[in-house]
This record gives sequence, structure tokens and C-alpha cells, in this order.
Amino acid sequence: MIRINQVKVRPGHSEADLKKKAAEILRISLRDIKEMKIIRQSVDARKKPDIFFSYSLLLDICNEEKVLKRFKGKEAQVSKEDRVFYCFPKAGSRIRKGPIVIVGMGPAGLFCGYFLALHGYKPILLERGKCVEERQRDVELFWKEGRLHPNSNVQFGEGGAGTFSDGKLNTLVKDKDGRNGIVLETLVKYGAKESICYEAKPHMGTDVLCNVVKNMREEIIRQGGQVRFESQVTEICISEGCVEGVIIDGSERLNCEQLVLAIGHSARDTFSMLYEKQVPMEAKAFAVGLRVEHPQVMINESQYACVSSEELGAAPYKVTAKAKNGRGVYSFCMCPGGYVVNASSEEGHTAVNGMSYSGREGCNANSAVVVTVTPEDFESSHPLAGIAFQRQLEDRAYQIGRGKIPVQRYENYREAVQGEKGTDEYEFSQMDETGERIEKYCEGVRAAIGEQDKVMPQCKGMYLWADVSKILPKECNEAILDGMEAFGRQIKGFDRPDVCMSGVESRTSSPVRILRDESLQSAIRGLYPCGEGAGYAGGILSAAMDGLRVAEAIAAEYAKDGLQS
Ligand SMILES: Cc1cc2nc3c(=O)[nH]c(=O)nc-3n(C[C@H](O)[C@H](O)[C@H](O)COP(=O)(O)OP(=O)(O)OC[C@H]3O[C@@H](n4cnc5c(N)ncnc54)[C@H](O)[C@@H]3O)c2cc1C
Repeated sequence: MIRINQVKVRPGHSEADLKKKAAEILRISLRDIKEMKIIRQSVDARKKPDIFFSYSLLLDICNEEKVLKRFKGKEAQVSKEDRVFYCFPKAGSRIRKGPIVIVGMGPAGLFCGYFLALHGYKPILLERGKCVEERQRDVELFWKEGRLHPNSNVQFGEGGAGTFSDGKLNTLVKDKDGRNGIVLETLVKYGAKESICYEAKPHMGTDVLCNVVKNMREEIIRQGGQVRFESQVTEICISEGCVEGVIIDGSERLNCEQLVLAIGHSARDTFSMLYEKQVPMEAKAFAVGLRVEHPQVMINESQYACVSSEELGAAPYKVTAKAKNGRGVYSFCMCPGGYVVNASSEEGHTAVNGMSYSGREGCNANSAVVVTVTPEDFESSHPLAGIAFQRQLEDRAYQIGRGKIPVQRYENYREAVQGEKGTDEYEFSQMDETGERIEKYCEGVRAAIGEQDKVMPQCKGMYLWADVSKILPKECNEAILDGMEAFGRQIKGFDRPDVCMSGVESRTSSPVRILRDESLQSAIRGLYPCGEGAGYAGGILSAAMDGLRVAEAIAAEYAKDGLQS
């Protein structure tokens, strides 16, 4: 097979146009192309509005060697390419005394369970939350009425944290073994669109993700695995430095010697239990910030020099800068045509994140403008100090927002951070008889007073105009201000006065790392810390890949089910 890079075609092109272009580059006739496979597609908007799609293609052609000779020294564009086929390891020979138990059905636990089930290991998956169908109802209820279910919310439940998200599937994890590819192919097998396998910035959207997760669960069960919802692991049983089992919901004991901990970054009660059990762990750096919203058309104009384009879709962005105080400030988890979501999982604590549906048709673009925080910023060197730090911020956000998502316009945030003047959010609201602040001006009035062009929050969950500058530590607010200014130079209007800022974005990654060695086990033998919560992934794809790595480690050592000692 040969590979061609930078095959450029205009938006609106067909697959036939692509093939024709490839034949032109190789100077061969169309008939000589036996097979063509897209392996990468990206948008080249460097010379906007002259925008192209740039492809890498895998081709099976006649006279391959002869054609390749023409591109000696031009391998960057045309080269020989051998396909990397992913290969799950052969089963090991060690006999297990009990089932493999996986805690958590986020991407890490789900992919670990799926590949073990597929290869005959009949794992048991324990999820504290509900199945995705019921979970959706609980999340909608929370967003509508503010009633939080502690175990069935945006963080907890089948599919894990990323289920109510934009479902972006990019990762910085370098992968020579083909895990990235096999994870994407598996998502396609259960319902995602094929293009996620080659798009430079693939995404699925919440609506598709929910379906994929359900289909994968059904396959795990069909392959002999067990899936138990509303089954929270409240304790692990350890003897002589080895795992012996788990306690579910404070009462039921399940014996096992291989336990995968894929609990995610928000399982604070479980982290405390593991700490009490002296499972080796350490505090880890992460980032905190505020989510910012802009009109999507403004971002499209900046990125693609056009207000909208069906072929190009809603434009993404990634911005980064260094603040005067030396801290890194950057955009995180950008959601084109998306919503700010109330992603809280603890009563009295407000955390936000972002999501989009597969169509990305929302009128706003949003991302979190975040600043790196390290254990030095936490009040102690305790391994769980980062969680305490998060809780403090989320508690403030809850108080300031009165349980709703606190939102502020950038101009007022900036003035408040610079200590110039108090916030005037209250101009737009007044107290009702219960002391609740309500929107004072409806659409019509805003239009009458020339506010109609102002960005309006697009939130999943109730919001309240409030002073978000009171949530983060001073140095974080200052870094965000520096960032907004710098981003305003990179994207025109990024720092316009009416940008909506909501808080607090505190769950950007895990504040803890559960230590593991090269066999992917903790010092507690048989315990496999896995995914984002354990500190080995950041995002849906890398969490799924880590789940797969742990499945491989277990399979390579142990025999399949059904073999007795
Ligand atoms: C709103 C939102 C939007 C996001 N958007 C994106 C995006 O677009 N792209 C992207 O790459 N990433 C996104 N992320 C991040 C992504 O979701 C996570 O990186 C990923 O889900 C981590 O996977 P995981 O399997 O390690 O953990 P999680 O997905 O957090 O799953 C952990 C699971 O373990 C369960 N659990 C925890 N404790 C226990 C226990 N004691 N017993 C039983 N079960 C337990 C939880 O209920 C949960 O279901 C988003 C996150 C959020 C919250």
C-alpha cells in the first residue's frame, strides 16, 4: 500500500474528486487505483477564506514500486505504508481463583470490560450509577429543577463523565500499537460515524455517545460478562498486600483477586476509602478556571472567514498563553455550538463543563479558560489535598450562584478582578419574594435597550448572574485576565465585554494519581489503577486506551474463564 499526504480538495468535494486528485498527484490513471482508504482528514484554513480539506490516503495501486520510484526524496507526500493491525495478547496461563472485577463504567472501565469479555474473560463490571437511559432522566431533572442525584449525574453512571459531553475524541497519547485505531473502530462498530477514524478532530456528541455505550454494554453481556448498576464499591478487601475482594454498597462481599479501579476523577468518597486502606497515591497537578461563551458565528468568522459553512461545520479553536505571573493559561475542552453544563456531583458544590450534540448547532461556542494548579497551590502535601482545593472552589461557586450556575459578563469580571468596581450583574436582576434573583429583562426588553446582540448564556442547568471573580484564587483570576487579553489578539472579539463567564471549571483532570508499576498494578497486588481517575488518562479516548492496556495486562497473565486450578 502507498500513502499520500496533503491531498487538498475544496469543501463540498466528493470521494470521486478525492480519487481523481490522488491519481493526478501520482500521475496514474483512475483505473490503476484498486482501493482507496481515507486515513486522515483535516481542515487547512491557513489561507482563509481559501480553505481546503487536506487528506492522507492509503492506496492499493498497480505498479506500486514503479510509482514509488517517482517520489524518491518526496516521501513526505508519497511513501510506502504497511498497515498496523491491532492485536490483543494471547491468553496467559495463570489460573485465577475468582472473577475479574472492574469498578466504573466510564470509557476506561467499559473498554477494559469489553475487550476482556470479547476474549472470554467474563468480567464483572460494577457501576455506582444507573444505566445510561435512566441516567439521562436524572441529569435532565437536575438541569431543570436542580435536584441532584448523588450517584446518577453528569459524573456518575453508565458511560462515565464523558457521556454528557461534546464527545471529542482527540488525544495527545502517542500510540504505535494501534490502540487508538481499535478504540475508534469499536466506537464505529457500536454506532459512531465512520469518519471519527480519520478526522483530525473527531467528535461524537452526547446523543450518539449514549447509544454507543448502551450497545457496548449489551455486547459485554452477550459475551458472558456481568454488568451491575447502582453497585457502589464502598470498600476493597486486602490481605497480605493482595486484593481479596470488594464490598458493594456497604454490605455485599464479592471475592476477586484482579480488581480494576476505573473510578474517574470525581469519586472523592472512593479516593478517601483507598487512602484509608493505604493504597499508594499522590497529589497531582490539574487545572481550574471559568467557562467562556462566544457567538459561534464570531468564531467561524475568525477561523474560517465565513459566518457558517455546512461542510466545515462549527469552527473549533485552541488558544494558549503565558500569564505575567508565569502560569500557563489555555482553552480546555472547547465545545463548538455547545452548552455549558452543570456537571456537579456533590450537594452544595457547583462544577461546570461543556457539551454539544453531534450536530453542534448551538448558537454559542464555549471552552474553559483554565490555569494550571500544582500541589504547591494546595493547602497541604496530603495526597487528597487537591480534592479539598476543588471542593473549596465549588463551594464558593455554589454559594455565589445560590445553587445555580453563576455567570458574569467579562467586562464586569475584569473590573472586579482589577478591583475597579463592584459587579453590576444585579442591574439585570432583582430579588423575588424568596430572595431569588430573577432575570429582569426578557428578550424584548433587551432588544429595546440594545442588548439583543449581547451573548446570552447557553446553559444546561439553571444559571444566575453573579460575581464569579469571587470563586478562584487571585493569581488564577489574574492569569485568566492575561489569557483573555492574549486570546483577544489571536481571535478577534475573544475578549469582548459581553463574553459570558461561568464557574467553576474544577474537574479538568484527576487531582490524584494512584501509583502503579510497569505491570500496571499497584503495590497492592491484583489492584489495577486505570483511566483518568487514577491519573493515567485525560479524555475519553486516552481513558479507553488505558482501559484496553489494563485488559491486555490481565489477559497476558491469566488464563481465560472456565479453566480451574
Ligand atoms: C461534562 C463533561 C464533558 C467532557 N467532554 C469531553 C470531551 O468532549 N472529550 C473528552 O475526551 N473528554 C471529555 N470529558 C472528560 C472525559 O469524560 C473523561 O476524561 C473520561 O470520561 C474519563 O474516563 P474514565 O473511565 O477514566 O472515568 P469516568 O468517565 O469518570 O468514569 C468513572 C466511572 O466510575 C464510576 N464509579 C466511581 N466510583 C465508583 C465506585 N466506588 N463504585 C462503582 N462505580 C464507581 C462512576 O460512576 C463513573 O461512571 C468530559 C467530562 C465531562 C464531565
